[in-house]
Amino acid sequence: MAAKGSRPQKPWSMYPALHEQVQALLDDEGLQFIFHTNDEDVGVVRHYDTRVMGRFVCRNAFCKTGGWSSKIIAITVRLYSPREYNARVYHQRCRDCGSISRPVLDESSYTERITYRLKKWSGIRQSEPEYFQGHSRRPHSRGLCEGCKAGLLHRKNYKWIYTVVWNLSQ
Ligand SMILES: [Zn+2]
Ligand SMILES: [Zn+2]
Repeated sequence: MAAKGSRPQKPWSMYPALHEQVQALLDDEGLQFIFHTNDEDVGVVRHYDTRVMGRFVCRNAFCKTGGWSSKIIAITVRLYSPREYNARVYHQRCRDCGSISRPVLDESSYTERITYRLKKWSGIRQSEPEYFQGHSRRPHSRGLCEGCKAGLLHRKNYKWIYTVVWNLSQ
């Protein structure tokens, strides 16, 4: 059952509006990057799959699920020559009705993951990133994750559980 009047369900999105925050963190190292607004594979010189945090709201008006949060939202960071990048952020599906949802990102987790990768690709030495910890109630469901479906390895090295479900009706 799809949400009424919904647009075609895309498996991922990009978040160009967050570039300004990414650039602010890159300024510390004197780096300058441009957000590559075309979502294309042509011209990609490097790419890396990783994960960010965020939350989802089910858009299906007939679904009782309020929403869920995830500490393992799949993203692919892509570098284009010479100093351009973008990132695909993968959507997840509601476990109750299967509707696809675009996440509301935890912006600091996104900007930190992106800047870590861009600095690394720029040859800057950094300490290993700290991945998000914390408890949760449900394991990452590969069948509901468009990133897993696309074959991303964004769960590697992750020993915690990542999904918290909440009900807006509570
Ligand atoms: Zn739903
Ligand atoms: Zn996944």
